[in-house]
Amino acid sequence: MDWEEPAEWFQGVKAVVDVPDVDERFDLGPDEGAAHLFSGDLFDGVRGGGFVYTNRDSLSVGTVFHLDSLVAEEAEPHELLDALLTHPLLADWIGDEYREREYAAKLVPDSKKVAHRDPHEDRLVLVGDAGGQMQAQGPIIKGMNHAVTAGALAAEAFVEAKSRGDTDSAGERYAKKLRDEGVMEKLRPKRYEVASALGENERATELADRALESRLGRLGVRALDDRLESLYSSPFLAMLAPDTRTPYVTMPTVIAEELGTRVGGEADYEPPDLADRIGDLTYDTDVGNPHIELLDNSAEASGAAVHACPVSARGFGGGCYREETVTVNGHEETAVSLDTQPCVECGTCAIVAETDWEHPRGGRGVEFREG
Ligand SMILES: Cc1cc2nc3c(=O)[nH]c(=O)nc-3n(C[C@H](O)[C@H](O)[C@H](O)COP(=O)(O)OP(=O)(O)OC[C@H]3O[C@@H](n4cnc5c(N)ncnc54)[C@H](O)[C@@H]3O)c2cc1C
Ligand code: SF4
Repeated sequence: MDWEEPAEWFQGVKAVVDVPDVDERFDLGPDEGAAHLFSGDLFDGVRGGGFVYTNRDSLSVGTVFHLDSLVAEEAEPHELLDALLTHPLLADWIGDEYREREYAAKLVPDSKKVAHRDPHEDRLVLVGDAGGQMQAQGPIIKGMNHAVTAGALAAEAFVEAKSRGDTDSAGERYAKKLRDEGVMEKLRPKRYEVASALGENERATELADRALESRLGRLGVRALDDRLESLYSSPFLAMLAPDTRTPYVTMPTVIAEELGTRVGGEADYEPPDLADRIGDLTYDTDVGNPHIELLDNSAEASGAAVHACPVSARGFGGGCYREETVTVNGHEETAVSLDTQPCVECGTCAIVAETDWEHPRGGRGVEFREG
């Protein structure tokens, strides 16, 4: 596992939006909720997708993308989130008035590539995201579930080890439970290893995309019709899918074009810009003690943070990362500068820029209120 490899991470960005009559809008009964996932051509070809779930009087709307894809496409996370927030379907749910309660972002590991196979060292055990246990494959999004399960298994392992007077065996017992309970196979499915070895290359992706977009491919999609929904939601197939644009972009786009219903209309609102989003957040800033140090300010080493940081953007001077032109030995060069004040502590620049990254001291920094 290489924690500095963008391909091993997802970046999630989320907005919580006020929708006081959420039950009516989603036709929900008491104690019911609704969740929807989005993928296709809405996100400029970046591999990942979007989600919407209902809360009591608000909606959580977010996007989750492979970090390497965000970097490769030079995409700006806030723009991709706005593309979802202003989709006509979202406009129907949100209504005419848009009030964003909170903007947030976080990195999560891609378990199929990085879940620790043996997440312990003697009595120290790694649980949840720290152990790489966030599973996101197709419609399967299970990070909290695995974190809770792994936490319970770790606790059981410690109780058993203690009752046998052999506390040193706790870590090994925990790792065995993860395997015996089938958690490890979900986190790192063997079928994905085979599929990725065969299918994660440009040639295979092109062939798959061309086949899907061909007349025959489209006929096949139409012939499958109703069965497609269960195939698409099948854990067996989801855990087999290669991490390429085919399952994220091409396949859902072709399915929508062949079987979907066109959603009309447009959003009458504009989500807040980054300056307003940052302005609405609450910070307990540790003045004089920035928690991130930029070690290399060259565009080659750290330029990706200017667009991949969820509170920065090219041409925006109020975010964490900015590009500026400096003169070095008579030559003009692009350099990167950093102001940690607006940071939402997502961790992205620890991976895509040359930094020394720590959490702010003593629980300081951004204070999220909506979870
Ligand atoms: C946008 C988005 C959507 C998601 N949707 C889903 C979903 O629908 N379903 C699902 O199951 N999962 C989902 N997940 C994944 C899920 O949120 C994580 O997998 C889960 O929260 C992991 O739990 P954890 O306890 O391991 O880590 P975390 O929830 O990250 O908890 C770690 C805690 O440790 C604290 N911490 C870190 N360093 C220190 C330190 N030095 N000292 C003290 N405290 C520290 C952090 O502040 C944090 O509170 C989503 C993630 C994102 C980003
Ligand atoms: S400065 Fe780094 S950690 Fe902070 S929000 Fe931007 S990318 Fe995330």
